[in-house]
Amino acid sequence: MTKEQRHRCMAAIKSKGTRPEILVRKYLWARGFRYRLNHPRLPGHPDIVLRKYRTVIFVNGCFWHGHDDCPNFKMPQSNTDFWEKKIRRNKERDIEEQRQIAAMGWHCITVWECQLKPHCRQQTLESLAQTLYRIYLADHSVRQYRLPDSEDEIPMAAEPEPHSPLH
Ligand SMILES: [Zn+2]
Repeated sequence: MTKEQRHRCMAAIKSKGTRPEILVRKYLWARGFRYRLNHPRLPGHPDIVLRKYRTVIFVNGCFWHGHDDCPNFKMPQSNTDFWEKKIRRNKERDIEEQRQIAAMGWHCITVWECQLKPHCRQQTLESLAQTLYRIYLADHSVRQYRLPDSEDEIPMAAEPEPHSPLH
């Protein structure tokens, strides 16, 4: 990479995403998962959208999104009221967006910044991949097993088709 290319790269990284988000994207890409970034039509503009898995991934900063019981989260000692309110609003918005995404039939995964620290990063990313495989299997096995499995459903299937009017 030339100095100029590197500069452009760094600028792109700065504007397009935070470092934790890039870690997740790089890992997913290397494992063969394909995604879109910041899908405009989904609530909350998720960081990563995997259409094939009907899954969105939010990579959340522990402070801004108020990660519960997080060792990295410390409420500031000054302007505490302000920060408490702000972070509570962010959390409420996150919950509402996730509710909307779920209502659209999508899965929603949140990866927290602290889960991407070097000592636990690999484990977090591997369990993310496992979760995606499980989601895919679960979604696709539903269709596979949709055969009438109770006696009640059989008469329904045997009902005559409505005749189309003859001309
Ligand atoms: Zn955290």
